[in-house]
Amino acid sequence: MHIAHLLTGGNSGNREYYLAQARSKISEECGELVAASAIFETAAWGNEMQRSFYNQALEIKTILAPEALLTQVLSIEQSMGRVRKEKYGARTIDIDILFFDDQIINLPQLTVPHPHLHLRRFALQCLNDIAPELLHPQLQKNVRQLLADCADPLEVLKLPGKDPTKLADNSGNERF
Ligand code: ADP
Ligand code: MG
Repeated sequence: MHIAHLLTGGNSGNREYYLAQARSKISEECGELVAASAIFETAAWGNEMQRSFYNQALEIKTILAPEALLTQVLSIEQSMGRVRKEKYGARTIDIDILFFDDQIINLPQLTVPHPHLHLRRFALQCLNDIAPELLHPQLQKNVRQLLADCADPLEVLKLPGKDPTKLADNSGNERF
Protein backbone atom coordinates (compact mmCIF):
# COMPACT_ATOMS: atom_id res chain seq x y z
CA MET A 1 0.00 0.00 0.00
CA HIS A 2 1.27 3.45 -0.90
CA ILE A 3 0.45 6.96 0.30
CA ALA A 4 0.15 9.57 -2.45
CA HIS A 5 -0.51 13.29 -2.23
CA LEU A 6 -2.38 14.86 -5.13
CA LEU A 7 -3.23 18.43 -6.05
CA THR A 8 -6.52 19.10 -7.82
CA GLY A 9 -7.42 22.45 -9.31
CA GLY A 10 -9.36 24.26 -11.98
CA ASN A 11 -10.53 27.68 -13.09
CA SER A 12 -13.49 27.12 -15.38
CA GLY A 13 -17.16 26.34 -14.79
CA ASN A 14 -18.34 25.63 -11.25
CA ARG A 15 -14.94 25.26 -9.59
CA GLU A 16 -16.18 23.76 -6.31
CA TYR A 17 -18.34 21.26 -8.14
CA TYR A 18 -15.41 20.08 -10.26
CA LEU A 19 -13.21 19.69 -7.18
CA ALA A 20 -15.96 17.61 -5.52
CA GLN A 21 -16.36 15.50 -8.64
CA ALA A 22 -12.58 14.93 -8.80
CA ARG A 23 -12.56 13.84 -5.14
CA SER A 24 -15.27 11.29 -5.73
CA LYS A 25 -13.72 9.92 -8.94
CA ILE A 26 -10.28 9.72 -7.30
CA SER A 27 -11.70 7.75 -4.37
CA GLU A 28 -13.49 5.38 -6.78
CA GLU A 29 -10.66 4.91 -9.27
CA CYS A 30 -7.37 5.58 -7.48
CA GLY A 31 -7.69 4.65 -3.83
CA GLU A 32 -9.15 5.50 -0.46
CA LEU A 33 -9.33 9.19 0.38
CA VAL A 34 -7.53 9.78 3.69
CA ALA A 35 -7.53 13.58 3.91
CA ALA A 36 -8.63 16.63 1.96
CA SER A 37 -7.37 20.17 2.51
CA ALA A 38 -9.52 23.26 2.55
CA ILE A 39 -10.06 24.85 -0.85
CA PHE A 40 -7.68 27.70 -1.66
CA GLU A 41 -8.14 30.40 -4.30
CA THR A 42 -5.21 31.82 -6.29
CA ALA A 43 -4.81 34.14 -9.25
CA ALA A 44 -4.01 32.12 -12.40
CA TRP A 45 -0.31 31.23 -12.32
CA GLY A 46 1.50 32.21 -15.52
CA ASN A 47 -1.48 34.19 -16.86
CA GLU A 48 -3.00 36.63 -14.42
CA MET A 49 -5.62 37.84 -16.90
CA GLN A 50 -7.50 34.54 -16.52
CA ARG A 51 -10.09 33.61 -13.93
CA SER A 52 -8.66 32.54 -10.56
CA PHE A 53 -8.04 28.89 -9.66
CA TYR A 54 -9.51 26.84 -6.85
CA ASN A 55 -7.10 24.18 -5.56
CA GLN A 56 -7.30 21.35 -3.05
CA ALA A 57 -4.74 18.78 -1.85
CA LEU A 58 -5.79 15.17 -1.26
CA GLU A 59 -4.08 12.28 0.49
CA ILE A 60 -4.92 8.80 -0.74
CA LYS A 61 -3.98 5.23 0.09
CA THR A 62 -3.45 3.32 -3.12
CA ILE A 63 -2.29 -0.06 -4.36
CA LEU A 64 -1.48 1.44 -7.76
CA ALA A 65 2.12 1.85 -8.92
CA PRO A 66 3.09 5.45 -9.75
CA GLU A 67 2.71 5.08 -13.53
CA ALA A 68 -0.69 3.43 -13.10
CA LEU A 69 -1.80 6.23 -10.77
CA LEU A 70 -0.75 8.81 -13.37
CA THR A 71 -2.69 6.97 -16.10
CA GLN A 72 -5.73 6.93 -13.84
CA VAL A 73 -5.62 10.64 -12.94
CA LEU A 74 -5.09 11.63 -16.58
CA SER A 75 -8.11 9.54 -17.54
CA ILE A 76 -10.19 11.28 -14.83
CA GLU A 77 -9.06 14.66 -16.24
CA GLN A 78 -10.21 13.53 -19.69
CA SER A 79 -13.52 12.17 -18.44
CA MET A 80 -14.18 15.53 -16.78
CA GLY A 81 -13.81 17.27 -20.08
CA ARG A 82 -10.38 18.77 -19.79
CA VAL A 83 -9.27 20.05 -23.17
CA ARG A 84 -5.54 20.70 -23.55
CA LYS A 85 -5.21 23.80 -25.69
CA GLU A 86 -2.71 26.34 -24.47
CA LYS A 87 -0.16 25.79 -21.72
CA TYR A 88 -1.56 27.43 -18.56
CA GLY A 89 -4.94 27.78 -20.35
CA ALA A 90 -8.39 27.54 -18.73
CA ARG A 91 -9.20 24.03 -17.50
CA THR A 92 -11.99 22.24 -15.71
CA ILE A 93 -9.59 20.05 -13.73
CA ASP A 94 -5.86 19.45 -13.39
CA ILE A 95 -4.70 16.58 -11.18
CA ASP A 96 -1.02 16.43 -10.28
CA ILE A 97 0.91 13.89 -8.23
CA LEU A 98 2.89 15.88 -5.65
CA PHE A 99 4.40 13.04 -3.63
CA PHE A 100 4.31 9.26 -3.90
CA ASP A 101 5.56 7.77 -0.60
CA ASP A 102 9.09 9.13 -0.32
CA GLN A 103 9.95 8.05 -3.85
CA ILE A 104 11.98 10.03 -6.36
CA ILE A 105 10.77 9.25 -9.88
CA ASN A 106 12.23 10.55 -13.12
CA LEU A 107 10.38 8.99 -16.04
CA PRO A 108 9.65 10.74 -19.35
CA GLN A 109 5.96 11.07 -18.43
CA LEU A 110 6.25 11.37 -14.64
CA THR A 111 8.41 13.42 -12.28
CA VAL A 112 7.89 12.96 -8.52
CA PRO A 113 8.08 14.93 -6.29
CA HIS A 114 6.27 17.31 -8.63
CA PRO A 115 9.02 19.59 -10.01
CA HIS A 116 7.09 22.83 -9.38
CA LEU A 117 5.79 22.00 -5.91
CA HIS A 118 8.36 24.06 -3.98
CA LEU A 119 7.99 27.00 -6.41
CA ARG A 120 4.21 27.40 -6.18
CA ARG A 121 2.68 28.84 -3.07
CA PHE A 122 -0.81 27.52 -3.92
CA ALA A 123 0.44 23.92 -4.04
CA LEU A 124 2.42 24.24 -0.79
CA GLN A 125 -0.41 26.03 1.00
CA CYS A 126 -2.89 23.26 0.10
CA LEU A 127 -0.47 20.49 1.07
CA ASN A 128 0.52 22.26 4.29
CA ASP A 129 -3.13 22.10 5.34
CA ILE A 130 -3.02 18.27 5.55
CA ALA A 131 0.68 17.32 5.68
CA PRO A 132 2.93 20.06 7.12
CA GLU A 133 5.49 17.55 8.42
CA LEU A 134 5.88 15.65 5.16
CA LEU A 135 9.54 15.62 4.07
CA HIS A 136 10.55 16.48 0.50
CA PRO A 137 12.92 13.60 -0.30
CA GLN A 138 15.18 15.71 -2.55
CA LEU A 139 15.17 19.09 -0.82
CA GLN A 140 15.20 17.53 2.68
CA LYS A 141 12.77 20.12 4.03
CA ASN A 142 9.24 19.53 5.22
CA VAL A 143 6.22 21.19 3.62
CA ARG A 144 5.96 23.83 6.36
CA GLN A 145 9.60 24.85 5.77
CA LEU A 146 9.14 24.88 1.99
CA LEU A 147 6.14 27.18 2.40
CA ALA A 148 8.07 29.51 4.71
CA ASP A 149 10.91 29.69 2.14
CA CYS A 150 8.68 30.02 -0.95
CA ALA A 151 9.29 33.21 -2.97
CA ASP A 152 6.11 32.94 -5.11
CA PRO A 153 4.40 36.35 -4.77
CA LEU A 154 0.90 35.19 -5.78
CA GLU A 155 -1.54 35.53 -2.91
CA VAL A 156 -3.40 32.38 -1.81
CA LEU A 157 -6.73 32.75 0.00
CA LYS A 158 -8.42 30.04 2.04
CA LEU A 159 -12.11 29.82 1.16
CA PRO A 160 -14.44 29.70 4.13
CA GLY A 161 -16.08 26.27 4.54
CA LYS A 162 -19.44 26.28 2.80
CA ASP A 163 -20.75 22.89 3.87
CA PRO A 164 -20.84 22.84 7.67
CA THR A 165 -22.18 19.27 7.78
CA LYS A 166 -18.88 18.03 6.35
CA LEU A 167 -16.57 20.06 8.55
CA ALA A 168 -15.50 18.67 11.89
CA ASP A 169 -14.04 22.02 12.99
CA ASN A 170 -13.39 25.45 11.59
CA SER A 171 -10.04 24.61 10.02
CA GLY A 172 -11.74 23.87 6.70
CA ASN A 173 -9.94 20.57 6.20
CA GLU A 174 -11.23 17.06 6.69
CA ARG A 175 -9.77 13.69 7.61
CA PHE A 176 -11.76 10.61 6.70
P1 ADP B 1 0.70 21.07 -15.61
O1 ADP B 1 0.13 20.16 -14.59
O2 ADP B 1 2.19 21.32 -15.44
O3 ADP B 1 -0.05 22.35 -15.76
P2 ADP B 1 -0.36 19.20 -17.52
O4 ADP B 1 -1.39 18.90 -16.49
O5 ADP B 1 -0.81 19.55 -18.89
O6 ADP B 1 0.61 20.35 -17.02
O7 ADP B 1 0.60 17.93 -17.53
C1 ADP B 1 1.31 17.55 -18.64
C2 ADP B 1 2.01 16.21 -18.35
O8 ADP B 1 2.80 16.29 -17.19
C3 ADP B 1 1.16 15.00 -18.11
O9 ADP B 1 0.70 14.42 -19.30
C4 ADP B 1 2.11 14.07 -17.35
O10 ADP B 1 2.64 13.03 -18.17
C5 ADP B 1 3.25 14.98 -16.95
N1 ADP B 1 3.66 14.85 -15.56
C6 ADP B 1 4.96 14.74 -15.15
N2 ADP B 1 5.04 14.63 -13.83
C7 ADP B 1 3.77 14.70 -13.34
C8 ADP B 1 3.21 14.64 -12.03
N3 ADP B 1 3.98 14.52 -10.93
N4 ADP B 1 1.87 14.71 -11.90
C9 ADP B 1 1.07 14.86 -12.99
N5 ADP B 1 1.53 14.91 -14.28
C10 ADP B 1 2.88 14.83 -14.45
MG1 MG C 1 -1.16 18.43 -14.50
